[in-house]
Amino acid sequence: MTTSSIPAPTSNFLRTIIDNDLAQGRYQDKRWAGKPGPAAVHEQAPLDTARIRTRFPPEPNGYLHIGHAKSICLNFGLATDYQGACHLRFDDTNPEKEEDEYVKAIIEMVEWLGFDWKFRDEDNCYFASDYFQYMFTFAQALVQAGYAYVDEQSADEIRANRGTLTQKGSNSPWRDRPAQESLRLLSEMRDGKHPDGSMCLRARIDMGSPNMNMRDPVMYRIRHVPHHRTGDAWCIYPMYSWAHPVEDALERITHSICTLEFEDQRPFYDWILDRLVELGQLAEPLPRQYEFARLHLSYVVTSKRKLLQLVREGHVQGWDDPRMPTLAGLRRRGYTPASIRLFCERLGVSKADSRIDYSILEQALRDDLDPIALRSVAVLDPLKLIITNYPEGQTELCNAPRNPHDPAAGRREFPLSRELWIEREDFQEEPPKKYFRLFPGNMVRLKYGYIVRCTGCVKNENGEITEVHAEYLPDTKSGTPGSDSVKVKGNITWVSAAHAVQAEIRLYDRLFSEPHPDTGDKDFLLALNPDSCQVIQAWIEPGTSTTDEMPLQFERLGYFVADRNDSTAQKPVLNRAVTLKDSWAQKK
Ligand code: ATP
Ligand code: MG
Repeated sequence: MTTSSIPAPTSNFLRTIIDNDLAQGRYQDKRWAGKPGPAAVHEQAPLDTARIRTRFPPEPNGYLHIGHAKSICLNFGLATDYQGACHLRFDDTNPEKEEDEYVKAIIEMVEWLGFDWKFRDEDNCYFASDYFQYMFTFAQALVQAGYAYVDEQSADEIRANRGTLTQKGSNSPWRDRPAQESLRLLSEMRDGKHPDGSMCLRARIDMGSPNMNMRDPVMYRIRHVPHHRTGDAWCIYPMYSWAHPVEDALERITHSICTLEFEDQRPFYDWILDRLVELGQLAEPLPRQYEFARLHLSYVVTSKRKLLQLVREGHVQGWDDPRMPTLAGLRRRGYTPASIRLFCERLGVSKADSRIDYSILEQALRDDLDPIALRSVAVLDPLKLIITNYPEGQTELCNAPRNPHDPAAGRREFPLSRELWIEREDFQEEPPKKYFRLFPGNMVRLKYGYIVRCTGCVKNENGEITEVHAEYLPDTKSGTPGSDSVKVKGNITWVSAAHAVQAEIRLYDRLFSEPHPDTGDKDFLLALNPDSCQVIQAWIEPGTSTTDEMPLQFERLGYFVADRNDSTAQKPVLNRAVTLKDSWAQKK
């Protein structure tokens, strides 16, 4: 890629905020010890050379999807543009659903998208579970200062006493217990002396707050469940709402960018960090949270729970099924990292929720591939064409550009002979109006080859056409002098029957036939498109690479990629990534 082809980043509200922060020198005194930690670790450290720090904080409880790509491109992109660092942080504070398999898959996909978490000599890949001890110390400090207490109400009681949007909550009977008692119970909770649900740690804020998240939110719960990294070391786990700001502060994040549904959490985000600065636990300047609209893409679901259900119940073949909106699925389908980055760039960043039509994603792939994809020919629905005046056993080479936009890519050669495969739809015995392809008496050009005149067809006992016959005009070969002396309106693709390679082609369509399969309380499974995968045997141009990771264009048909799991040189399998035109726009 030349630098001139990289579009300049479009401005957005986050860039404006960062520009202002930098202009005001908000972070110029920020110290960074080269690793995450509390105030004591950073205070004596050198000034941070990263101008900003952002983070991408996936929970390792599933595979990344196209919505995550928006967050990845945004966070890593901002860090790069502002000479800052972006941390990859696994937000693994919820042991039940998290697994190492997901950690590996997430790392693989962030790298595949073209990003990395190195900054100078730092390797900024972190795990929230590495901060459990810091969090516990912070919790103790908060209890000591009267900012938190151990509550022995049941989960149901806590819920009932929380109040509603119109009604204030009521104080827990344990809210004013002595700090020493809460401290002792907190230690007992950590030491495994109490069963799940018997008590929890809560922040002591305001049960009358109009913001429900400020009504003494739960901070620690007891869960006697092993964790994928810390094993049995802990049986209390921090809640996301305070773990997240603490993780950000330990890592000295400057701009903590999250999706809009966390807007109501921001007061608690700030409250907890302010208290911890006041108690000398955390160093300033503190991170700040900013919210942007998540990606809602039509014709897909992106909830991890629903994606997991599709996999578990066998509606798709796995997380990397080419119909899945996971990054693994999109990669296998033929999406390139550049096409996904281009899509995210075109989306922009805003605070207004909107739905993005799936065709925008498809167009980004076409726009990425058109200038670079190598061309080839395939015949998906083969019908034999016999050139009756072409000598039997004779073969000659035709040639065509590898990519018509890129002369430097050179030309490719492929053989022509007496028997060819053409698309069944390229012959009509009785043509409709404006049909310019083969029918008895009509002439067409065999693309990159000769002009042929159709002389008729052969049918079997069921009346099905089994062969089309034609005669070629010897002086009309493409690229030879005078080849265009005969004018024709139709141009059809073909492969030589004796030389073509057989390939399995998987024609994918959208997984759901409704644009919004999971709005309201609809059962999204009812919207599954029953025809989302069609497997056919096709003939493809000899020499077509069937193991390359880079998608190719089959002329007239679309972009295809060798299936990364199943394709071999001996038994090629290709997935159609996208058609050349938006076929859904025509259906509407
Ligand atoms: P789910 O609700 O499916 O579990 P999640 O948002 O909980 O998804 P996380 O692993 O917590 O998934 O997400 C990591 C980051 O990706 C978060 O910062 C989140 O804001 C962002 N993210 C997730 N989904 C989207 C989306 N559709 N659009 C933009 N960002 C997203
Ligand atoms: Mg989450």
